[in-house]
Amino acid sequence: MENTLTEDLRSNIKRVFDAQKSNQLAVKLAPINDRKAKLKKLKTAIKARENEIFEALKKDLRKPVFESAVFEVLFTYAEIDFAVSNIALWTTPQTAPSNLVNLMTKCRIRYEPKGVCLIIAPWNYPFQLLISPLISAIAAGNCCILKPSELAPATSSVLAILIKETFREEEIAVIEGNVSVSTELLSLPFNHIFFTGSTKVGKVVMEAASKNLSTVTLELGGKSPAIIDADSDLRMAADKITWGTFANAGQTCIAPDYVFVHEDQHDKFIELMKENIEKKYFLKGQLNKEDYGKIISDSHFIRLKNMMQDAVEKGGQIKIGGTSEEADRTIYPTVLTNVSLDSLIMKEEVFGPVLPVLKYKKMTEVVDHVNANDKPLALYVFSNSERNVETILKQTSSGGACINDVMIHISNPHLSFGGVNASGIGGSHGFHGFKSFSHERSVMYQSKMLDIGKIVYPPYKGKGFILKLLRKLM
Ligand code: NAD
Repeated sequence: MENTLTEDLRSNIKRVFDAQKSNQLAVKLAPINDRKAKLKKLKTAIKARENEIFEALKKDLRKPVFESAVFEVLFTYAEIDFAVSNIALWTTPQTAPSNLVNLMTKCRIRYEPKGVCLIIAPWNYPFQLLISPLISAIAAGNCCILKPSELAPATSSVLAILIKETFREEEIAVIEGNVSVSTELLSLPFNHIFFTGSTKVGKVVMEAASKNLSTVTLELGGKSPAIIDADSDLRMAADKITWGTFANAGQTCIAPDYVFVHEDQHDKFIELMKENIEKKYFLKGQLNKEDYGKIISDSHFIRLKNMMQDAVEKGGQIKIGGTSEEADRTIYPTVLTNVSLDSLIMKEEVFGPVLPVLKYKKMTEVVDHVNANDKPLALYVFSNSERNVETILKQTSSGGACINDVMIHISNPHLSFGGVNASGIGGSHGFHGFKSFSHERSVMYQSKMLDIGKIVYPPYKGKGFILKLLRKLM
């Protein structure tokens, strides 16, 4: 893979971008059935390369085939099927009502392709997070350049081959590479940029987009809390939080980042977490690496180890795990207690298999903590009280939320998936993804029979009664 920007790569990027610009009108004007056909072709191509995708994900992240199948590949099949069944509905112009001033007009909102789009993906779900926005982009009738993450090189390479053999580059193309390639792409006047990655780089993307006034969807990260109400089913909470925290070795944007549990339930919760971790990730006392991912890179491995050390130095206690194996970048499922709010682990997104568990006395402490920090991507509440759930939802803000479970809100394409402010801008999946890649063009068709608007044309002399009438009506 050519990773860094060379003169050849720079001119290739420009050539592909220009080719897509020239081709965009044809793609826009093609019948809706062509979009469906493209999506079906994409699904067939993925099916044909499923094993290669699984192999690549194993190489990059030691992702278990089960996790790769469910969260990376089957997820995209479901998105494709949903889009294919709904494109006709989504692209039908929506009727908007008229008001008094434009009484006899016909008003429509048309969903039109934005044009040539850029999709930049991260490494943690490197297949799904490139293909899922692509599905929305195709459904909306766009041309697209895709930039996979260089930190998952095996998956990036399969994606490049898969797209090349499925689409003409003047409609969809992959450009592989690192930050320099990304920077070059971001300098081009794309009509829309769909970025998934860190909040820090999200700001870089938005700044670059502002130069061309490209619209953006930013799917970012953040610290997603899991809040356990005093009356909740602790066993269920521990079961679900264990899964959410340690799937993909914690490298999931919506993984519970830290837990708030009532002080009376704290010790029991830790005990249940231990039980769950052993049941799910250990075989005869040994970590079952077949079912447990590795950390993506040496720098992330070091970052996580430093985070744990910093937490311990500031008074935190490792209650479960804490060990690591450098040779294959494994960090054992780890749970920390007594963590100081000043430690790095409570300031930065963890993005690894390390879970701080904090005690609270009153729910107001939890709400205050959440509100004092950036709005998270997800917020989880475990509770048997609808009233308490409603209070927490009302008093906080987050991209999405899930009650009595973690992460599975992402599985419903009827729900918009995305963050708010620091955790993201805009939505994805289903119609919401389609909308991100569409321009909502408002069109008013004037009536030739009765054009009421003319009453406000000059000369204004003698029209005072119209002003009076309008004042009464408005
Ligand atoms: P990242 O921001 O470092 O990189 C994402 C992409 O941006 C990569 O393709 C990379 O090549 C490119 N990039 C990196 N630095 C750049 C720069 N300075 N200029 C231009 N492009 C640059 O993110 P990551 O480490 O790959 O992924 C982890 C982050 O992504 C976490 O914060 C996680 O929460 C977030 N994430 C969010 C979602 C979501 O749906 N909201 C999903 C997955 C991951």
